[in-house]
Amino acid sequence: MLTTREFIYETRPGRVVFGAGSCNKLSEEMKLRGLGRALVLSTKQQADIANRISGMLGPMSAGTCDLATMHTPVEITEKALVILRDSGADCLVSIGGGSTIGLGKALSLRSDLPHIAIPTTYAGSEMTPILGETENALKTTRRDPAILPTLVLYDVDLTIGLPVAMSVTSGINAIAHAVEALYAPDRNPVVSLMAEEAIASLAHALPVVAEKPADLPARENCQYGAWLAGICLGSVSMAIHHKLCHTLGGTFNLPHAETHTVILPYATAYVAEFAPDAMAAIERALGSENAASGLRDLAKSLGAPLSLAQIGMPEDGIEKAADLAVKNAYWNPRPLEREAIRDLLNRAYHGAPPI
Ligand code: NAD
Repeated sequence: MLTTREFIYETRPGRVVFGAGSCNKLSEEMKLRGLGRALVLSTKQQADIANRISGMLGPMSAGTCDLATMHTPVEITEKALVILRDSGADCLVSIGGGSTIGLGKALSLRSDLPHIAIPTTYAGSEMTPILGETENALKTTRRDPAILPTLVLYDVDLTIGLPVAMSVTSGINAIAHAVEALYAPDRNPVVSLMAEEAIASLAHALPVVAEKPADLPARENCQYGAWLAGICLGSVSMAIHHKLCHTLGGTFNLPHAETHTVILPYATAYVAEFAPDAMAAIERALGSENAASGLRDLAKSLGAPLSLAQIGMPEDGIEKAADLAVKNAYWNPRPLEREAIRDLLNRAYHGAPPI
């Protein structure tokens, strides 16, 4: 019989340097590993930061590549691979959110070069051995220890400019990793501690960031929570919340962090009765009497989108999404019941209270 004290705990290799100004330690950290020249990756929108980092590296920069884009399309990776080979770099530095870190992972996997990630959102990809890629409109996800970046520099200064709306949805995206880690079938006491701390840290700091985006301690607490939540995502299995967001995002091209933000209270309500210990931990972390409505109240107080309608889901997509949600079976604390999932989606579409 599986007792609550029976678990497997595996640490992930990789070094984390956390703290204001830590991106200034990049060349020192590269030297520690015997690395000579880095190709600095970003999106077009963050090309200026990539140029700044590249300038800071001086002769240790092999140039920049600002091709990173949403969903890590394989054709973009292949273009970037040519730039990488021509650059003579012996390592990759990705600076940005999950999209840029995704390109760093895809290139590192294909070239065997070490990957240093400098995250500027709260999505958590930098702490996971997971890579999602798209080819011919199909998204595939793979998990391989080689995908995990070798070094992560968390520099709060780089998050100050993250717009409030993105900070809020990205922060709730991080909370979602922690929420699902609390009822994962392969959960363990260490990851559960991290998950509760992640939720508490983000839930307390996000309202401050929403009021004062340049508040350094609050930004630091968000990044700290995001780091912990990223470890949760990389360590244990996710369930209905992540699967629904994946389906909705892929089928209706909905924005990643916003979809997580809308779905989280409803997915939490769906599993609540089947995961009482997880709910108790979420309630402690939020200081709320009900996990699902506490999560919705948090999103509401932060001015986040509250319905799928608001973020571009077509109403006639509910039935299709419900069909897809039960098509590929996966573990969930509560069995996947099509009608109940349809009801969940219908409530989420209209932004009705989660029950
Ligand atoms: P993103 O990386 O797509 O970034 C969105 C936009 O915001 C980009 O233009 C980016 O350049 C910009 N941006 C990022 N940080 C900024 C900052 N500080 N200031 C101003 N602009 C900034 O968004 P995301 O939510 O971080 O990542 C989403 C993607 O990452 C999705 O494709 C998702 O599937 C993937 N993801 C993967 C994992 C994993 O483990 N593999 C985990 C989480 C997310």
